[in-house]
Amino acid sequence: MRDQPTLEPRARIVGTLASTTTLTGSYDASGLWFRIAEGAFKGRWVTSAVLVATTARAVNGRLPMSAVTRLPSWSVNVSNLPHEPRYLSRAAAVGYLGLAAAFKARFGVALTITEAYRTLSRQQLLYRTLGYPRAAVPGTSNHGLGNAIDFGIARTNAINSPLYFGRSYDVWLTANSKRWGFDRPDYMDRRGSNPEWWHYNFVG
Ligand SMILES: [Zn+2]
Repeated sequence: MRDQPTLEPRARIVGTLASTTTLTGSYDASGLWFRIAEGAFKGRWVTSAVLVATTARAVNGRLPMSAVTRLPSWSVNVSNLPHEPRYLSRAAAVGYLGLAAAFKARFGVALTITEAYRTLSRQQLLYRTLGYPRAAVPGTSNHGLGNAIDFGIARTNAINSPLYFGRSYDVWLTANSKRWGFDRPDYMDRRGSNPEWWHYNFVG
């Protein structure tokens, strides 16, 4: 196989592994190739298309549909991927539904979601187009575990959004989201290295 991973699995085949083989190693930044770190094929690459992931990093963006909960249609921020349902891990979905109910009671508005669970291929697309740190390295995003939400209210932009730092929705979410298990990492806060007023992690 090639020394450098490529976007297309056209490399020379140097060996065959039994379908039950357990491998140790790591994915490259694209997530398309996995480098074997131990054993007879140490240093060789395997196309990730044939792998079944088992560790935390490996399942990121590859969760089985049985591991995620489809959210109600009202959760969709129609200004982004308007026809795609949103998914979260089960625990995060329960938290979100409670948070959204309280938000609706307070503001009379649905607490809609721009993006929640993200597949590896979508994370790769965002990483290519936005770059780090706006998009996490594929395989490392909390979105890929179904434990992150980007909130977004349709027809409001970043400047005018009540979700922006210090505005009404933001103040309320900052004060209340922890009751339902959500928090924003420090580095995404207003004075953090990568401020993202729309992003919350489910931390339980
Ligand atoms: Zn996010």
